[in-house]
Amino acid sequence: DGLPPGTRSMLLVLEESDSGSGFGSTKLHVATISKQIRLGSKIGAGRFGTVSRGTFKGEAVAVKIFRDADLLSFDNEREIFETRMLRHPQILRFIGSDRVDKGLLHELWIVTEYHPLGSLHDFLLENVITIDIFNSLITSAAKGLAFLHDGYDGTTNSCKPQFVHRDVKSRNIMVKEDLTCAIGDLGLAIVKPPGGTIPQHIAEKYKCGTVRYLAPEILNSTMSSYEFESYQRADVYSFSLVMWETLCRVEEGEVKARSAETVIPYIEWTVRDPTDEQMTDVVCTRNLRPPENPQWDGNKKIQYVTEIIQSCWSANPTARYTAFQLKTRLDYKISEEEEDNKEQLQQQEQLVQVQDDY
Ligand code: ADP
Ligand code: MG
Ligand code: MG
Repeated sequence: DGLPPGTRSMLLVLEESDSGSGFGSTKLHVATISKQIRLGSKIGAGRFGTVSRGTFKGEAVAVKIFRDADLLSFDNEREIFETRMLRHPQILRFIGSDRVDKGLLHELWIVTEYHPLGSLHDFLLENVITIDIFNSLITSAAKGLAFLHDGYDGTTNSCKPQFVHRDVKSRNIMVKEDLTCAIGDLGLAIVKPPGGTIPQHIAEKYKCGTVRYLAPEILNSTMSSYEFESYQRADVYSFSLVMWETLCRVEEGEVKARSAETVIPYIEWTVRDPTDEQMTDVVCTRNLRPPENPQWDGNKKIQYVTEIIQSCWSANPTARYTAFQLKTRLDYKISEEEEDNKEQLQQQEQLVQVQDDY
């Protein structure tokens, strides 16, 4: 020991005075990943703490550090991530968790794979996209959501627990370098209990998440909060706003992108930090929805997507697609496009043949 405190924090390899002694109350069953991580710059700050870059065994990682007071959220996120069957390319990859002693306080760490393009929110702030990139981002994100919601693993067909996210928004979805998405921030996620009835302590306090993204039935407290499916439908509503945000940044032919700083759902009727009452007035009482760009009407591919978005933000929860249907619909869009291409190709070939015949 004997190192001045400054040096210790700079190294960020935190020494635990009782390591090895076997006396530490928590040390015995706590991982020590934090000791192997070198922290870099801060990349984000959320409701529950800060997120920094780091390096772990040569790999770039993101480290979310919770404040001691957010033990519940940390425990929840860690538990959900540690569910073995939550491995999917469209779910943020969990690497480890740790509890780091800081004198009287603790730092709670969640370590995940780092994505340099950041959240979908940040990505859309800095980029306009083509409809093909839209499809890549949104179809993949929908696959992630369907994987969370569904009871089976789409690839190996084995069973897995079902989850709802409860805080779906563009800031909680990361963009990978291949321009597909990975859903992150599982701090509010819950698992479907056996039988599907939500426990009382959750069902009685179901208004949580980000108020701007809350489904109308949550805002006006009409949701059937003991049914797991209700939470799935609310996730799909939030996802419709993410689809709208992403579509707003598409530039294609005549279609121009909405300016980045106005790509916030309901921004024309709300202040920056809207209250529950304001959101309820806009979304439930006045039944408003984010505006559609009139130029979208002239584009077949975009029209297809706007119809999907409209069903997903329906005021009637049962009129929305399920995440599975959403994923299938969006995927179908792509295969349909391929069909269109094939047809065009065939027409071109026929044309060439006709020319040859001359
Ligand atoms: P909170 O629960 O505090 O909201 P998040 O997990 O949503 O924390 O992370 C907050 C922000 O940090 C995200 O919106 C994103 O900008 C950034 N971030 C989080 N995880 C990663 C990651 N793995 N790669 C890149 N950026 C990340
Ligand atoms: Mg978040
Ligand atoms: Mg969170």
